[in-house]
Amino acid sequence: MTNSPYHTVDYLRVSLIDRCNFQCQYCMPEGSEIDYIQSQNFLSNEELLYLLREVFLPLGFNKFRLTGGEPLLRPQIDEIVAAIASAEQTQDLAMTTNGFLLADTAQDLYDAGLRRINISLDSLDPDTFAALVGDRTGKRWEQVWAGIQAAYRVGFDPLKLNVIVIPGINDGEVLDLAALTIKRAWHVRFIEFMPIGNSMLFHEKQWIPSEQLRQQIRDRWGLTTAQVAGNGPADIFQIPGAQGTLGFISQMSECFCDRCNRMRLSADGWLRPCLLNEQGSVNLRASLRRGESVESIRTQVREVLAIKPEINFKERDMGTTDGGYARTMSQIGG
Ligand code: SAM
Ligand code: SF4
Repeated sequence: MTNSPYHTVDYLRVSLIDRCNFQCQYCMPEGSEIDYIQSQNFLSNEELLYLLREVFLPLGFNKFRLTGGEPLLRPQIDEIVAAIASAEQTQDLAMTTNGFLLADTAQDLYDAGLRRINISLDSLDPDTFAALVGDRTGKRWEQVWAGIQAAYRVGFDPLKLNVIVIPGINDGEVLDLAALTIKRAWHVRFIEFMPIGNSMLFHEKQWIPSEQLRQQIRDRWGLTTAQVAGNGPADIFQIPGAQGTLGFISQMSECFCDRCNRMRLSADGWLRPCLLNEQGSVNLRASLRRGESVESIRTQVREVLAIKPEINFKERDMGTTDGGYARTMSQIGG
């Protein structure tokens, strides 16, 4: 664990796979040229669990989120969930998913020990949703909605819905999405759209500051500050009397790098200290496969921890000439 002058870094976001069954316009739109991880370069379950048990847990990481790509596409995911959930030092384990496969997997995930889940749901309108996620069948909204209901029935708590608000696409639904929290103990989190994944769409549509969304909601119902379990940088509010809460993740309008408590491990074993700045990243898969000792791998992670306070995404390494970023969230592990 690192006690930097800023905070403790004890939260690891683990990408299980870089593939996805959706093609969200803001993440990996149809036609994206993505350099997918080759099969031999994926960390196996055994390698991943070795790193978690022998390197990250002993170094004080005790909060984990499984993500991707679409994590539910990872074979034997229950084995990974069970191993992390049952480790004595684990304080928290959560998952971010598009929910498409959740109706059939929610119970098994819960039984394996997962308790917290975030499901991406950018629209309540099946047609808008289909256009956003690249769905030609027009049926995926229903399947995701069934996944959300299943997660709720099974008992995931808190159950969070992630919404990226994109002007001209779903910004007219902010009040309807916020209203989901009134009668249900669901937690809706509005995320500012970032120039990562599809910078063309970003430049065309731009983004909406969280405060503008809060004002809309305040004007309609009023808004008070609140709390909900989580490890992220969301500012939490509540419609007075509502069962659930509203979270706002404002990485565009507000720099929260000085309170960042996380690092990311990609599905091919790269440890990254920052979402948008690759400085200091190390390839733990390579070290592992070279047969390096556990102490040597721990030292590499300690070195990344030591430089993390100096790295922030305001000074990010922009990967493209149009001000976007070369990698997508699905590649890094969003
Ligand atoms: N497939 C899963 C899902 O969609 O929930 C997990 C991976 S996805 C990359 C994780 C999160 O990243 C999602 O909530 C998604 O909305 C968010 N994301 C992807 N591209 C983004 C962008 N350009 N700006 C902000 N958030 C983005
Ligand atoms: Fe897939 Fe999630 Fe990216 Fe959408 S946001 S394309 S569901 S990884």
